[in-house]
Amino acid sequence: MALKIFFNGKFVSEEDAKISVFDHGVLYGDGVFEGIRSYKRKVFRLDEHLDRLYSSAEAIRLKIPVEKDTFRSRILETLAMNNLADAYVRAVVTRGPGDLGLDPRKCPVPTMFIIADKIALYPEALYKGGMPITIAKTRRNHPSAMNPRVKSLNYLNNIFGKIDAIDAGTEEALMLSVEGYIVECTGDNIFFVKDGVLMTPPCDIGSLEGITQKAVMGLARKRGIEAKFAKIKPAEIPTMEECFLTGTAAEIIPVIKIDDKTVGVGSPGPVTKQLLQDYKELTEKEGTAY
Ligand code: PMP
Repeated sequence: MALKIFFNGKFVSEEDAKISVFDHGVLYGDGVFEGIRSYKRKVFRLDEHLDRLYSSAEAIRLKIPVEKDTFRSRILETLAMNNLADAYVRAVVTRGPGDLGLDPRKCPVPTMFIIADKIALYPEALYKGGMPITIAKTRRNHPSAMNPRVKSLNYLNNIFGKIDAIDAGTEEALMLSVEGYIVECTGDNIFFVKDGVLMTPPCDIGSLEGITQKAVMGLARKRGIEAKFAKIKPAEIPTMEECFLTGTAAEIIPVIKIDDKTVGVGSPGPVTKQLLQDYKELTEKEGTAY
């Protein structure tokens, strides 16, 4: 059945949800978005996603055409309209149609749309057995060139990283900063466990401030596991006991190998497995109902 898309103020069928070729979202990747998940008719961390969407928009001086409360209602309506219990929501606001120059001031009306659909990012077997990844040849955008807190439509740096993964025969690639620190994967944050301590790179070296990342740090601390931000070099990988990736779409996925280096014993470790279980319970417990 065709999906109902919330598109510029009304619900339309997916084949009618069409964007102008003059939209600066298309011409320049000028816009912001969120990826949000629902579990059993409840949206996980909806307000955190809305806050990030609005602060991303503010950072690029894009005025979202509706108030946050209205946006929240539209997301819930889109989910209900499509009768999806477990879904992935893509909320997008672009600069809107303008002329062929870059100037955002010439785009008076932003384009806004919400898609609710299903998503499966990685094969199910990898969640159980763990995933091998590669280190991307492409470096992550430098934070002074592209503010990593902004979840923008400009994902070409990540796509270069994804192409590096495809070339290496892996599902994902770990991206390093220009200075050589581990930053994140192409669409997920990364965690390591060393001496029982959970570590993830700080956002200011170039990663997105992940909502799943924050949730997982909270879950770890609840279990009495120390969770901290740390700058990590690839040379430290052989000293790591466990590794996993986090993201709204990916959830938590164990990593067992990085290029030719096996992580820990080469299978998902106890901290990863515990957090996977805790995360599943959390997503089923809390959320905004629709
Ligand atoms: N990093 C990048 C580059 C992302 O695009 C995402 C979201 N897919 C993440 C990290 C994870 O963020 P979140 O947990 O908020 O989905």
